[in-house]
Amino acid sequence: MQLIKIAFIIILLISSISAQCFHHPNNIYASLEIVECNWNSGLDVTDTSSHQEASEEMFQVQFNCEIGDKVTCDKVLGQFKKAANMITSTFIFNTPIKVNVSYYDFCTVYPANLCGDLSGAAYPSQFYALQDDDGLTRLYPQSLVKQFKFSNAPKYNEFDINAEFNSVSNFWFEQDSIKINPDQEDIYWTICHELIHGLGFYNRWMGYQINPIALIPTTALINPDGSVPRNNLFNTNSSFVEFMMDKYTILLSNGTQISLFTRQLNTFFNDHKSSVFNDVFIKSPQFKFAQELLVLATTPNSLGLLPRNSRNFLSDAFILETSMPTFEQGTSLIHVDFKTYINTNDFLMTYRSVDGNNAKQMVLNGGNYSGGPIGPRLKLMMETFGYATAENPNPYKPLPFKPSPTPDVTSKSNETINHNASSGCTLYIIKKN
Ligand SMILES: [Zn+2]
Repeated sequence: MQLIKIAFIIILLISSISAQCFHHPNNIYASLEIVECNWNSGLDVTDTSSHQEASEEMFQVQFNCEIGDKVTCDKVLGQFKKAANMITSTFIFNTPIKVNVSYYDFCTVYPANLCGDLSGAAYPSQFYALQDDDGLTRLYPQSLVKQFKFSNAPKYNEFDINAEFNSVSNFWFEQDSIKINPDQEDIYWTICHELIHGLGFYNRWMGYQINPIALIPTTALINPDGSVPRNNLFNTNSSFVEFMMDKYTILLSNGTQISLFTRQLNTFFNDHKSSVFNDVFIKSPQFKFAQELLVLATTPNSLGLLPRNSRNFLSDAFILETSMPTFEQGTSLIHVDFKTYINTNDFLMTYRSVDGNNAKQMVLNGGNYSGGPIGPRLKLMMETFGYATAENPNPYKPLPFKPSPTPDVTSKSNETINHNASSGCTLYIIKKN
């Protein structure tokens, strides 16, 4: 019994790794995702031997440095302050963002054969189901929901973003004033990248079965108050739900929203009261949409993010990472295309940096963009999601909380879909009977 329990915990740990964004793709992560179940924060690290705070007013970091080396702890904190300054100089927050950061030896928590390869991860601590202007309910990260200042918002988590960084990773620190080695990663790049995930550059498409035969949106249990704690994600008995970022994800072949697939997949629940994790789903007419999604997610240049006010989806889309030959959860789709952007000013959200290049060099390589690591396409997408900037002070807002939000899986039989390829939009026309 004890052995079974240990094995189960290890599987949960590995699947939890895959649910976050680490920069080292490995089949094992994706293949084990399917076994992730509701579980109570086995990864929580409670030992905070050193605990400092970095408050850059609107971006507050609680830093738990769990190594004995105070000099290194101070260097990490310094890089966090720099990242916080950079983010607050780009985005305008009206409510402080609170980040809980742990810096510790991952090998004390993750399996020994994996821990050395992982550098860091960050994710929104909690999501909220909000209704978008296209009628779909999507999961928004707490950091952004707070900025909307809805009057009837549920109680928020203390922290908006949870982040962890590996103290045994071969990080380069600017403060050392020595040249970066070819095998090193600039911790500043890692921190900036991960914080952007934490702010909601985040989705959760999942391979269906161990060797994926299809791709599905995550299933999630939405609490009656609209909140979705991370433990509610991948609830096997729930319907499919999208994240904020999915609203803007389009097919680069014709500009269709990927949400069209989610809408179609959710019609499964009109016909069946069962979970999708069984043969009934595989044999259903909806399954072909999940198969198509897998093809898209593993075909280069097939999906992208379309920013607000776009006129041409081909030239305006921020191309997503779909070049991995097999779908890698935590790498595919949650990043922008490495090949297209690594040598541009929008390098930050590629799934990895170029070892031996620090963030400053990468900004220079990309044309020395004035915004630093947050490139123009990334900034435009974050604005599109709903973050305010000096150039876009009144961004899009979803509808306020409803008393009992539920995913929109109501009758789709009355809908016709009109693909407007030239504008990159998909229009839903509801026919009244
Ligand atoms: Zn990432």
